[in-house]
Amino acid sequence: MEPDILPDLLAKIQKDFDERTYNSETLKKAIQSLAGKKATYLDVNEFAIEIGKILSEVFKLHVRADILPDGKMYFNIADRLLNATLKKNHELITSFGVDVQTLLNQAVGIRIKAQAPTINKNRVDGLVNKISSAPIFDDVKWVLEEPIINFSQNVADAMLKSNVEFHAEAGLDPKIKRTVSGHKPCDFCKRLAGLHDYDTGNGDDIYTRHERCRCTIEYIPERGKRELVSSSKYKQNKIAEKEREKIEARKKIGIKEKE
Ligand SMILES: [Zn+2]
Repeated sequence: MEPDILPDLLAKIQKDFDERTYNSETLKKAIQSLAGKKATYLDVNEFAIEIGKILSEVFKLHVRADILPDGKMYFNIADRLLNATLKKNHELITSFGVDVQTLLNQAVGIRIKAQAPTINKNRVDGLVNKISSAPIFDDVKWVLEEPIINFSQNVADAMLKSNVEFHAEAGLDPKIKRTVSGHKPCDFCKRLAGLHDYDTGNGDDIYTRHERCRCTIEYIPERGKRELVSSSKYKQNKIAEKEREKIEARKKIGIKEKE
């Protein structure tokens, strides 16, 4: 049996990743902006792109055909490699995002908790499948480049989206600002640029990015008139829902025990 290359590879990647994130000027700037209570989703966006860039650079350095068995990325390696590293990306970006959202909420006196999305398992699986699908790693190594940055941007976007939805449910009237970036924006991105109401019917398009898209998506909460009443009502509904779930779960336990 061939030795398992993953633990050693992962250790190298993590060490390099930690060093580079520690020394990154872009990350420092974002963290300083948070400390100075000036951070917005533009910082979350920058933070996410930088985290994605660093991971893709570190991949490029360490994940090479010459260290892979048969020069192929086997599913078993890809699965553990991407799950471990992307989980860390997700956690870093959402924990920064939660702090920024908390700051934005507090700035306008919205007393509801910042939301953090769970990791998008479908996206991770998609990348794992793509990278392990080819007999020759060099043919698919691009998957560890731009798509890793795109994955990381999506974490920031999902962060924004979950808070926008939460605020809308709490009775606020969230507006999302999408701005094109770069000198040649495509028609898709140009069409989506502007200020969107939460319920304009553009749906998830507002959060959609093609590869190499550097559009920024922003949300700055504003306190609405209805918020006070609705959010406490919302909270109560949530509590009632939680109680119901508990009772349902208990019921199921009872059924299992009987069986
Ligand atoms: Zn774009």
